[in-house]
Amino acid sequence: MENQKSALTEETLDPAEWGDLQGLARQIVDDAIAHVRDVRDRPVWTEMPADKKSVYAAPVPNGPMPLSDVYGELCENLMPYPMGNIHPRFWMWYMGSGSYSGALAEFIAAIDGSNLGGGNNAAAFMDTQVVNWLKQMMGFPDTASGTLVSGGSMANIIGLTTARNAKAGVDVRAEGVAAIPRPLRFYGSDQVHSCHQKAVELLGLGNKALRRVPTGPDFRMDVAALRAMIIEDRKAGFCPAAVIATAGTVNTGAIDDLAAIGALCRDEDLWFHVDGCIGALIAIAPENGHLVAGLEGADSVALDPHKWLHVPFEAGCALVRDGGLHRDTFAVHPEYLEEKPRGIAANEYLHDYNLQTSRAFRALKVWMTLKEHGVDKFGRLIDQNIAQATYLEGLIAEVPELEMMAPREINIVCFRYCPSDMPEAELRALNSEVMLRMQEEGIAALSDTTVGGRHCLRVAICNHRTRRADLDLLVRETLRIGAEVVQG
Ligand SMILES: *Cc1c(COP(=O)(O)O)cnc(C)c1O
Repeated sequence: MENQKSALTEETLDPAEWGDLQGLARQIVDDAIAHVRDVRDRPVWTEMPADKKSVYAAPVPNGPMPLSDVYGELCENLMPYPMGNIHPRFWMWYMGSGSYSGALAEFIAAIDGSNLGGGNNAAAFMDTQVVNWLKQMMGFPDTASGTLVSGGSMANIIGLTTARNAKAGVDVRAEGVAAIPRPLRFYGSDQVHSCHQKAVELLGLGNKALRRVPTGPDFRMDVAALRAMIIEDRKAGFCPAAVIATAGTVNTGAIDDLAAIGALCRDEDLWFHVDGCIGALIAIAPENGHLVAGLEGADSVALDPHKWLHVPFEAGCALVRDGGLHRDTFAVHPEYLEEKPRGIAANEYLHDYNLQTSRAFRALKVWMTLKEHGVDKFGRLIDQNIAQATYLEGLIAEVPELEMMAPREINIVCFRYCPSDMPEAELRALNSEVMLRMQEEGIAALSDTTVGGRHCLRVAICNHRTRRADLDLLVRETLRIGAEVVQG
């Protein structure tokens, strides 16, 4: 009697009828396959109409709605209006184009439901295995440590925090940055990613502690200038602590001279961090791997599986050569998180290497895509993107109205439409208009930037669906839209 009563009043999120769920779940998977299969037939991007946008102003629902109706709303108001980065002609900013196995993995990870803060469970062992695989791919020793994080920005913060604590000269965890005897100085090129500014600000060092080393015409860090800055800072009473070398800058894809910077760091006793969010994975590419030689000597590396491994967002990874220093930077064991010899907690806590406590099961999507395709395939796809960028550079060279704006080293091409001798401001307006119309017409997604003080269009081919014909089309459409804009 009592039991029956509670069965009537106690609620759960599980469905009353599991059978109903089966039909809907199958429908979602079928639609998802069609969505990815037919992506090329859709515009890269479609602006969301105002009346559709307004559904996202609706207030919080207090009552229920059948799941099939909820899904129906998504089909109407979400799926037709994505960013577009799974499309073969999306080359904006820098991101991966997704993968079906990665998407299934996200689903399975959520169903498994494990919290990757740690524990004695398969998901935790898989997390450690994926970090070990990434170490192997980067040529890091077994004794190195690592952690999966939300993305490259967080991976850089993990590396730079470890660097700060290792070089501070005091116990920063106990005493704080105010106790650091000589102010720390970090060095990155003038092309360093904006996340490093956030990192040094967050670390309590301040933006001025990140010195921007000039780059040459190839946008690589000037190593002689770096050396001079270190000497100058020492003389002025600062403590040069770490160099952030970039393997693949956002603007142009330039790769700093990792071997030379690594050697300088060893000579000067500085921490050698590599921001490899774009380029670290080039290490696995048979034709281009040599471009990142020296990466394997870094004290820490940030890399981004949600870029060139194409796993769905979010997935970044920090690797640290000295696992002990890494752990010393983040490990803390309150009474409710003690290590146990047996049972569910009988494993190293993974959050000891990370700022988060609860952690997503990110490892599965990396594990599943690497298992399905193998590392060799990803190496070939990276080479393929670089070859496609070389091809685009060749197309640009054949057209007098198009001009390369920076040397192309990997998969990023900076160019502009320049039909006649025009002032810089007019060229900026013209090229911005070409970029925006290209997006609004759903043809291709490019971004723009400024390199060496001059505005340009920027194509970053981190996309396993791009074909050379897409690049032919890009050049044709740039010329067509450019001529239209000029005619007014
Ligand atoms: C993408 C990128 C980052 C930031 O990574 P997120 O995954 O976006 O957080 C940092 N550095 C470089 C060079 C990048 O390209």
